[in-house]
Amino acid sequence: MVSTSIPCLWITFCLHLCSYVDTGKAQNAKEVILLDSKAQQTELEWISYPPNGWEEISGLDENYTPIRTYQVCQVMEPNQNNWLRTNWIEKGDAQRIFVELKFTLRDCNSLPGVVGTCKETFNLYYQETDSEVGRNLRESQYVKIDTIAADESFTQGDLGERKMKLNTEVRIIGPLSRRGFYLAFQDVGACIALVSVKVYYKKCWSIIENLATFPDTVTGSEFSSLVEVEGMCVSDAEEEADNSPKMHCSAEGEWLVPIGKCICKAGFHQKGDACEPCGRGFYKSSSQDLQCSRCPAHSFNDHEGSWRCDCEDGYYRALSDPPSVACTRPPSAPQNLVYNINQTTVSLEWSPPADTGGRNDVTYRIICRRCSWEPEECVPCGGNVGYSPQQSGLVDTYVTVVDLLAHANYTFEVEAVNGVSDLSRTQRLFAAVSIATGQAAPSQVSEVIKEKVQQRSIQLSWQEPQQPNGVITEYEIKYYEKDQKDRIYSTVKSRSTSATVSNLKPSTAYVFQIRAFTAAGYGTYGPRLEITTKEEATAISGKNKVHVEQNPVIIIAVVAVAGTIILVFMVFGFIIGRRHCGYSKADQEGDEELYFQFKFPGTKTYIDPETYEDPNRAVHQFAKELDASCIKIERVIGAGEFGEVCSGRLKLPGKRDVSVAIKTLKVGYTEKQRRDFLCEASIMGQFDHPNVVHLEGVVTRGKPVMIVIEYMENGSLDAFLRKHDGQFTVIQLVGMLRGIAAGMRYLSDMGYVHRDLAARNILVNSNLVCKVSDFGLSRVIDDDPEAVYTTTGGKIPVRWTATEAIQYRKFTSASDVWSYGIVMWEVMSYGERPYWDMSNQDVIKAIEEGYRLPAPMDCPPGLHQLMLDCWQKDRAERPKFDQIVGILDKMIRNPNTLKTPVGTCTRPISPLLDQSTPDFTAFRSVGEWLEAIKMERYRDNFTAAGYSSLESVARMSIEDVMSLGITLVGHQKKIMSSIQTMRAQMLHLHGTGVQV
Ligand code: AMP
Repeated sequence: MVSTSIPCLWITFCLHLCSYVDTGKAQNAKEVILLDSKAQQTELEWISYPPNGWEEISGLDENYTPIRTYQVCQVMEPNQNNWLRTNWIEKGDAQRIFVELKFTLRDCNSLPGVVGTCKETFNLYYQETDSEVGRNLRESQYVKIDTIAADESFTQGDLGERKMKLNTEVRIIGPLSRRGFYLAFQDVGACIALVSVKVYYKKCWSIIENLATFPDTVTGSEFSSLVEVEGMCVSDAEEEADNSPKMHCSAEGEWLVPIGKCICKAGFHQKGDACEPCGRGFYKSSSQDLQCSRCPAHSFNDHEGSWRCDCEDGYYRALSDPPSVACTRPPSAPQNLVYNINQTTVSLEWSPPADTGGRNDVTYRIICRRCSWEPEECVPCGGNVGYSPQQSGLVDTYVTVVDLLAHANYTFEVEAVNGVSDLSRTQRLFAAVSIATGQAAPSQVSEVIKEKVQQRSIQLSWQEPQQPNGVITEYEIKYYEKDQKDRIYSTVKSRSTSATVSNLKPSTAYVFQIRAFTAAGYGTYGPRLEITTKEEATAISGKNKVHVEQNPVIIIAVVAVAGTIILVFMVFGFIIGRRHCGYSKADQEGDEELYFQFKFPGTKTYIDPETYEDPNRAVHQFAKELDASCIKIERVIGAGEFGEVCSGRLKLPGKRDVSVAIKTLKVGYTEKQRRDFLCEASIMGQFDHPNVVHLEGVVTRGKPVMIVIEYMENGSLDAFLRKHDGQFTVIQLVGMLRGIAAGMRYLSDMGYVHRDLAARNILVNSNLVCKVSDFGLSRVIDDDPEAVYTTTGGKIPVRWTATEAIQYRKFTSASDVWSYGIVMWEVMSYGERPYWDMSNQDVIKAIEEGYRLPAPMDCPPGLHQLMLDCWQKDRAERPKFDQIVGILDKMIRNPNTLKTPVGTCTRPISPLLDQSTPDFTAFRSVGEWLEAIKMERYRDNFTAAGYSSLESVARMSIEDVMSLGITLVGHQKKIMSSIQTMRAQMLHLHGTGVQV
């Protein structure tokens, strides 16, 4: 009976296979299929045992595609053991295998008469082998995977509804170690149709993540294991430093946990999953940058994929410059190079270049050359010259060059350099000055040898000092008895390097010191040498006792200073010292020695041309007659008293042509006018100093009569300062003053009294070197528009002139010092008129009552003090030009002494000084105030920014002032200083503070 019922079951299967419902999941792309029974349309030919068990039957799936299935339904017979084994499945890379079974299973309850024999499960097994093992099936070799039960079984009723449930079960096996395996299905008496068997493993498929390619990766053997995979950068990408790309392939075939990344190389940027080259005109300097950037200023590129852009012609990139910065070029030359000479030391100062080349690493280097006088040939200064702070890499705009040779010609070039200067092949740009050093005194005489010591004489010899700095014309030997200290001493002079000092006392200790003398004066004394004369020989008769040793040949002079004379000189010296009001050498340096100055002929003395009977002789004595053909007049630059002043060029045979100013004598002159005109040349021709205008020569033998002077590019100092109001540093201003003082020291040393020293009579060249000019006798004063007739007769420039010169025409170097003080005031106030618009009479009266000009705005107190000293009523109390030069040099060497807190100089110190500080509370408007401080040019700036009342101005800070567009530092300071004073006055008036 059983056998008859079975075909009925098969039919049922066949019919219902066509309409089953697939509850399994869709095929996943991460899977690699090893076996899919559905995919095979021919017979599967699996091994079935016993032969009446599992049976291969063809069917159709839901899409009516033919499929192969295995069925078994021995439910009537007890003790069923039906095996079905697949063909050998090669596992490939797989470690974990998924087995998906789709089957239908008949509910035993729906089958009549099968109680006890019918089962509703089957068993799944596998066997691992390295190859196929034939068709024998031995149960014991199989490993059980699971007993499979149906989630849904079907009944007869279901069949009636023509619906059959398809079960899907998935089992996992692994890890597998052999090359392949078989699957086996054991039926123990169920009614099953095995619709499909699919065997697969999972893979993570190749992907690109973070610009790295990750290859196909088989999942790990364990369910929980992650397989770490290294990525490979896509083309034109590179691994990020210490961050190589990695991902993890999960058991489910999914990529998880990306770590690290690749980034596009320099010259490439990311587009999607690839790196693309930067376009033309763009660059990407590093893989770290995300985007390509446009070429920076002054650079370009004309190809794709660039990591940097090339500089335009004339522009460069320093080695340390990143590709992202603009290409730059060397700076222009430094500006306003000025210098000061102090014997063999030269201080240079300059302003930064107008064009820094687009960089902020500008430093300066100094090139020093020593030049022969004629022909001019220059050689590098070499290592004997010292530079402070250094020769190159200077950050600040000044340097001091020391240890130059005395009385030598030097050229200094100051070059501004920046990070690209050394890369540039263009011509070097520099500011240059040619300087002649002054004469320096010789260095010390240190190596003294006692040649012969007698009872009454000592013979000494010595070496020439290491730096004679000129021709040594004489040595001075100073000596004194040790017990007397050097209160009483004597000197002996010698032209050679040895001397015998006679008339000494026997058995007495003497101290000797030697110094050398050149045209530049005395050097300092060498070290003290102590020598004791021999004991007196008792056998010698009284007649012969004295004067036994004398050496008249080498002794030039012996100055034995008797006690009484000393006393007279001491008293005299004391008085003189006192009268020098703190400037005498002794007072300054605590030096208590008493010296007797030996005045040596050597310093040239000024000769008044008026003393010549024939003034023409005077001119030709002091001035070179020039051939008019050597002079080329170019243009008119000013008007002098006697005719036009022109600029032009002078080309003397065998010399370079030079710029000159040419003063001409107008046609139709009288003989007196001609004499007066040439008088200036007769005076100027006697001078030779870097701070006194230099006369090139005269033309007297042709017409017009001309005086040819070195050309001073910046014209007269007062106009120059007014034009550059507020534009110089205090050091630059003091440098100018130092120059004027040095010129005046030279003139006063020559015995020349200027009488009309004023900023308008100082000329300035292109290096800001100031030179004293306008020489003459009485005519100088006549010529000066500032000069007025005084009650004492004669014309006098009252505001510049010392009281004694106004009152009784006492013109001396001391009255020049007074005028110099006024020049200082003019310079520090940028060409302000001394005593403003006070009348001459009021000025004379105010000065007589003791009033003095107050310090100009921002003037260091030390400088104002020096001005006040120059304006001492007692002319003996005024400093000498020599001392003024020394004081200014000290200030230049210690710029800290020139620092002044803003506004400190505006504090009134006497009633006249009050006049310099306008009463701000009296102004009615901002415009009025600006006018008073000579800053009316900024009126619109204040109005535009809404500063309409003085109260609002009083609240302004320096930032506010700057924000008005006032860029000149000098003007900012001037305005700020005035605001501070205004604030103080308001506080005083109202008793309230102005909040800023
Ligand atoms: P003086 O007759 O010396 O007062 O000269 C008249 C004007 O000519 C001066 O104010 C200057 O502007 C100009 N001047 C005179 N000498 C020179 C010079 N050596 N270099 C340039 N300008 C000069």
